[in-house]
Amino acid sequence: MRTSTKTGISYFGNRIPRHFVTDLDEVKSHNCTFVVHTYSENDQQFYKDTIAEMVAITKDAGLEVYLDPWGVGRVFGGETYSSFALKNLRTCQILPDGEVAPAVCFNHPDFRAFMQTWIEDAAEMGADVLFWDEPHFFIDIKEKHRYDVWYCRCPACDQKFQKSHDGHIFEADKKTIIAFREDSVIEFLNELCESSQAAGMKNAVCMLPFRDTTIGMSDWSRVVAIPTLDIFGTDPYWMFFNKDVETFVGAFSRDVIELCNQFGKEPQMWIQAYKITAGREDELRQAAAVAYEAGVRNLAAWSYYGNAFMSYNRSDNPQKVWDVLGEIYGQILRGETPSPF
Ligand SMILES: [Zn+2]
Repeated sequence: MRTSTKTGISYFGNRIPRHFVTDLDEVKSHNCTFVVHTYSENDQQFYKDTIAEMVAITKDAGLEVYLDPWGVGRVFGGETYSSFALKNLRTCQILPDGEVAPAVCFNHPDFRAFMQTWIEDAAEMGADVLFWDEPHFFIDIKEKHRYDVWYCRCPACDQKFQKSHDGHIFEADKKTIIAFREDSVIEFLNELCESSQAAGMKNAVCMLPFRDTTIGMSDWSRVVAIPTLDIFGTDPYWMFFNKDVETFVGAFSRDVIELCNQFGKEPQMWIQAYKITAGREDELRQAAAVAYEAGVRNLAAWSYYGNAFMSYNRSDNPQKVWDVLGEIYGQILRGETPSPF
């Protein structure tokens, strides 16, 4: 299911449509064909019609729209908080030592019902693709070694676990816990993708670039195999993880291509365009080149204008990052392999 070349950019931080109109001109002049709009819990509660307006502006300009449940429930990627978790403490994840995590458990039926309202909103706004970004059980990367295996032992998980196993989840061995955790992610994604497709939208999943059983999803083929999934990818942000760009992005691109070919899905790779150190902007070219050479024709970047507007993750020279990305996208749209220099 290979499709034409696509070039995307995520956009967030601004909820002033008349300013977005100006930014969108730049998005177009930087050769983007789609915009990933974030639609967080805060947006859903306070900016629903504003986001709808921005989605409409994007579509009227001829660009495709992805909608991203940014940090919703703190189950997806995104630098924001979850109001749902605070209002529904009983639905929060419980860590192996009994500590409450600042994230909702997606095995809780109330959160599953909440996600359906999110999908209904997205359909009403006219989103083309729902972008399920980095779905995961709560982890703290900085404290990765705190537990032998990270998992949730909340009542919803434990009850679900007991339906198919003898005993409680916290009594199980590591292998059983990992299998249960991964089954839960797949079931959750399956449900989201089915609802989204039934509402007329496509589905894209982006997995965190880990294949580590202690924290991540070890077998990606189970995600790619989801029947109602259309687009599959990952976000190997080499500078963020302090890795070599060609090795890191290249290996993940080849993995994504292989899996997508196997299951007939569209491969997508995310390019780091935030927190780029001064003097290293050309590494975006290398990242795009290795992804393109592997066969990826759907590239997306996080985020607009080098993420200049979020000090936590901004690039040193956002204008340069943005312009380099625009050049790369121009090359790709012309059918040229992005120049790595
Ligand atoms: Zn749980």
